[in-house]
Parts: sequence; C-alpha cells; structure tokens
Amino acid sequence: MNLTGATLLRGRWTPGTGPAFHAVDPATGAALPGAFHDSGPEQVEDACLAASQAAPAYRALPREVRAQFLEAVADEIDALGDSLTERVVAETALSPARATGERGRTIGQLRLFAGVVRDGDFLGRRHDPALPDRAPLPRSDLRLVHVPVGPVAVFGASNFPLAFSVAGGDTASALAAGCPVIVKAHPAHPGVSELVAGAVQRAAEKSGVPEGVFALVHGGAEVGQALVADPRVRAVGFTGSRRAGLALVHAAQGRDVPVPVYAEMSSVNPVVILPGALETPSQLAAEYAESLTKDAGQYCTNPGLVFVPEGAAGDQFVTSSVRALSEVPPQAMLTTAIAEACAVGVDAWREIDGVEALTTGSLTGASATPSLVSTDLEVFRREADLSAEVFGPAGLVVRYPSVDVLLEALAEIEGQLTATVHGAESDHDTARLLLDVLEDRAGRLLWGGWPTGVEVASAMVHGGPWPATSAPATTSVGTLAIARFLRPVSYQNVPEELLPVELR
Ligand code: NAP
Repeated sequence: MNLTGATLLRGRWTPGTGPAFHAVDPATGAALPGAFHDSGPEQVEDACLAASQAAPAYRALPREVRAQFLEAVADEIDALGDSLTERVVAETALSPARATGERGRTIGQLRLFAGVVRDGDFLGRRHDPALPDRAPLPRSDLRLVHVPVGPVAVFGASNFPLAFSVAGGDTASALAAGCPVIVKAHPAHPGVSELVAGAVQRAAEKSGVPEGVFALVHGGAEVGQALVADPRVRAVGFTGSRRAGLALVHAAQGRDVPVPVYAEMSSVNPVVILPGALETPSQLAAEYAESLTKDAGQYCTNPGLVFVPEGAAGDQFVTSSVRALSEVPPQAMLTTAIAEACAVGVDAWREIDGVEALTTGSLTGASATPSLVSTDLEVFRREADLSAEVFGPAGLVVRYPSVDVLLEALAEIEGQLTATVHGAESDHDTARLLLDVLEDRAGRLLWGGWPTGVEVASAMVHGGPWPATSAPATTSVGTLAIARFLRPVSYQNVPEELLPVELR
C-alpha cells in the first residue's frame, strides 16, 4: 500500500504545504507508515475555488451519471479489500469485524443514494397549474423543484472512519444532491482517508465527473476554520464534539454570508427502564453492558444514561450490570486524547456529591475499562455535569422513585439523538406518557432494544433537538439526509423550453 500523504486537489495528489504528521496506532502508540502533510491555506482556498468552478457542470450532469458515479465510488471502495480494513484497524484500533462491517455499510449507503438519485423523489417537484379565470385574481403557473446548494465542506468523524468520513453519509448525500464536496480528513485516520479519497477520484474519472467535484484536505482546527470561512462553501457536514461543532456553527454564522452547519454533536441517549421490563434483570443488564461497551463505547448513540426504578428489581439490574461490565477487557480507544477525555469525564462525575462509583474503570495509554456510576434523580436534576456526554465505555445509572418525578426530569433534559423505553404490556399507560415527553427531546424513539446500531434507511432519523445537533429539522443518516444539501426554487410562468430539465 503506497500512501502519498498528499492533498487531493483538482483531481491530482499534490504535496501538502503545511506541517508534517504521522498516523498513530492507538493500540501501541507507534507511528504508522506514511508521512502526511497538512494542506496549506492556499490549497484549502484552491479546493473551494475548484469546487465552485465545478458546481454548475456537476449539477447539470444527467441524474443517471450521478447515480453511476456513486455506484462507482462504492465499487472502488469494495475493490480496496483488506488493504482498507487493515489500515482502519491500524489507525483506529477498531476490530477487523467492525472495519469490515463499516466498509459494507459505507458501500451500501452509496448504493442507496444512487437509487435515491435515479428515483428522483428527492427533487420534491410540485406543480400548481395556472388558473387564468380565477376571481378576483388569476393564478400563475408555479413549478417547484429542489436544487443543489453548492459546495459542501465535510468533516470526517473519528469514530466512523468509513461510514462518516471521506465517502460516508455526509459526502454520499451531498454528492447525490449534486453538490461538490471538500472533505477535511480526520487527523486520526489520514491513511484510510487517502485510500478512500483515491477510490472517489478513480470513480470520478471513470464516470466523467468534472475535476474539482471532490477534494481531500488534511489539517486541524485551522484548516477546518478556513474551510468553513471560505465564501464558496455553502453548507457544512460535521460529526464530533460539541466544542468543535459549536466553533464551526459560530464561524459559519459570523461570515458575511452565513451558511448552515449540520453538526451532530453530543447525546447521552437516555434509556428508561420501567418495572415491567425487570422480570429478567440479568438478561437486560447483559444487553446493556454489551451496548455500552461495544467498540469501546465510541458511538454517538451510546446508552450513557439509564433510569432504573428504585427497589429490589432495580438493584438486581444494577448488580448484574456491574458484573457484566467487570468481564469486559480493556479496549484501545480511537486516540489517546479521546481516552483521556473519557477518564476526565468519569472523574468529574465521581467528584459530585451523591454519586457512587460502581466500577473502578481504568486507563492505560489509550486503553480503557468500563466505568459505571450511580446516583438518584434529585442529584441528577441538580448537577448539570451529569447530563454531559462522556464519550466512551462510561455509563450513569439514575435511580427514580416514581414515574411522575421521572417525567418532570425527562422534560428538562437536553436534546438527544435517541431515547429508549423498556417495558412490558403492563407499562403501556405509563409508556405513552413517557413517549410524549421524549418525542419532544429526541430524534429517534425506541421501544426495547438499545440505541447503538443505526439502520441506513428511508425512515431513519439520526438527528434531534439542540445540542444533539445544530439543525433539529434534519437527519444525517438515511435517505432524508439529502435534504440538507438542497434548496427549493419556484418557477413562475416560465415557458416549458426555458424550464430546467427536471421540470419539463
Ligand atoms: P472533535 O474534537 O470534535 O474534532 C472533529 C474534527 O473537527 C477534527 O478534524 C478536528 O481537528 C476539527 N476541529 C476541532 N476543533 C475545531 C475548531 N475549533 N474549528 C474547526 N475544526 C475543529 O472530535 P474528535 O477528535 O473526534 O474527538 C474529540 C471528542 O469529540 C471526543 O472525546 C468526544 O467527546 C467527541 N465525539 C463525539 C462524537 C459523537 O458522535 N457524539 C463523535 C466523535 C467524537 P483536530 O482533531 O485537529 O482538532
């Protein structure tokens, strides 16, 4: 595998003019082969210029060509085979099975969007025919279509090196909408980013997609800020921390021409366990422990917050959870910084008066063992820090005395990606009240099961009220994600031959 470490600009690999860096294997701390360079400011600017120059030709391509391009990207990623998954494992410490699964999801996502493009429903075409004889005023002929917004900047996510990075959901939906894409690679997996960007580039050449429709830049916050500030960028897709997401939102709003930032930031994904679900507490606890620690808990949908009824059955669930978590071996996290942030978050929980540490939880290098802490509803409502996301294998159990008080607490929680209710038929009356409250707080509601694992489908919502995302009316997973990169245009009384092809 030959990695250039370069920037992909106007269809060519061009040496980055910024500082050099290496990828690191988080499992060992060792530098990995390949010397990378940050992209220089002039290269970031040129990537944005090239994208805006390519935008008119790209949006004018027949939809079938766009669909074939997305399928070709999928084929090229598939063809990378083990060299891609091996590099994913080396740069992220995720398991080979996870890397292979994520590659499949990424390919499937691209093919799904190819189908969306062919199908054409996303154009949302509407027609109000003219009513020349309407009194007191005639009505004009009105035809509506959705058009691409223009160049989109995409930030690769650390925790999804394939499915939410270079050719992941944001890129697939933006390209499907007809928008050029400039990706900022996540600095934690630059080699994977280069391999996937090469696949996109080869697909673009084979499909006759204009040069400049896709670019890959490397760098940290400075490069990210430059991208968002560039006047040619019309929208931003981001998955990561609240701190970085908010910085991008502020940067985009501070521009002469503000643009939307679709940031998916932080969520603790509350799970409510109702009494009827506690018939087999140890089984439920085993499932909880598995979901909380899957891939070292590095999911935005991780069940970080579980509400458990006070009493003996709830006690048994907690004891069984501690036992199940104690059997989970140390897992290397994505980066040392992410592992340290997790440890700091857990320490902050433990220092709060009224919080009990149920497991010791440890950190060696980037490797962490699970942490579980417990408190009551009163302390939870009093201490805002207990609602903050601690990204990693860390969970907070909150014991509640009654559903009435729990409902009050749930109405106060921050916006979430998901909310889950576990119960039996005997809990249905209570559950209905809970779901009403939770619908206002989350983008996806689950009855039973665990929120990790997000299906890429047409009825999926991976979004939610602030601060889960910066744009609660949208989703970043599923076919509806394309809507983020489209805008409606109405044509009034425009003669047939002058209408865009899609409206004729
Ligand atoms: P991050 O710090 O949010 O960084 C994401 C990307 O944004 C990186 O490319 C980063 O570059 C860039 N960036 C950071 N600050 C920026 C700024 N002020 N302006 C412009 N760009 C900026 O996320 P991360 O590196 O993946 O992990 C850090 C923490 O984020 C985790 O500990 C976790 O708490 C959270 N996280 C949450 C989710 C989720 O889905 N909820 C997913 C991943 C991470 P640099 O790396 O060079 O700073």
